[in-house]
Amino acid sequence: MEVFTSIPSLRFFLNQQRSNGKSIGLVPTMGALHQGHISLLDKANSENNISVCSIFVNPTQFNNPEDLAKYPRTLEADLDLLKAANCSVVFAPTAEEMYPESPVMTFNFGLLETVMEGASRPGHFNGVGIIVSKLFNIIQPDKAYFGQKDLQQVSVIKRLVTDLSFSLDLVICPTVREISGLAMSSRNQRLSEEEKATASHIYRILSFAKEKILGGGSIELARREAVDQFSAIPEFTMDYFEIVDLNTLLPLANLKPDGTNAICVAAFLGPVRLIDNVIF
Ligand code: AMP
Repeated sequence: MEVFTSIPSLRFFLNQQRSNGKSIGLVPTMGALHQGHISLLDKANSENNISVCSIFVNPTQFNNPEDLAKYPRTLEADLDLLKAANCSVVFAPTAEEMYPESPVMTFNFGLLETVMEGASRPGHFNGVGIIVSKLFNIIQPDKAYFGQKDLQQVSVIKRLVTDLSFSLDLVICPTVREISGLAMSSRNQRLSEEEKATASHIYRILSFAKEKILGGGSIELARREAVDQFSAIPEFTMDYFEIVDLNTLLPLANLKPDGTNAICVAAFLGPVRLIDNVIF
């Protein structure tokens, strides 16, 4: 496994690989890796000659300085995990390497960023747009792997690739969960065992609402009952609970027959903000 911290040395290495006909799969991450990340890497390894995992806690996508400061950083353990998972290349730059100057360009993803994560975290998707564009330009992957766990991020990145004509395929991978149903997340490292047990109610309530709707219940009623269930657990502070059209991310009035319905939730457990979703 090769580990790079500088952009020119990574570019030099990947140019050589490309000229030898090797295909490149990119898995962008912010580190504190878990089996969710490794599932993306496994997929990248199975579809490309070279897998590149980037590890960079991207400051431009954090709108909350405390969230950035407390974000878990576990590089040594991450490298061990990646080596064991047969990762070919790790790119772990410093903030100075990625941002010699603060970017002046901004991204505006229109309606996509006015709802849910975009509404709750102003500037977040601008930061995502900047870092993902930089990684695509530096690494020039044939395929890039993202998790469905970050549903709105997937929509934003699809638009980024379309609008800027990036020459790559996006591969979207299913959410990996703990046995309890809790979606794996780097932020779970900030939770105690007891809090993790509480956090598993997120997926339980999402599944409850999904089953209600699939069973013919009204979307509005399912939403209200689910929100009530969250309210009954005092450890949670709900940010949003939305039942949306997967294509537009706008609230749904009625179930669509084509599997493009999604329920998205964000909730605070103490200071830790967790997100999850189901698609059906
Ligand atoms: P992050 O390090 O949280 O920025 O995540 C890096 C990539 O891993 C993103 O594409 C995430 O959507 C994906 N990811 C995070 N958690 C999971 C999970 N539990 N299952 C599948 N993919 C995930």
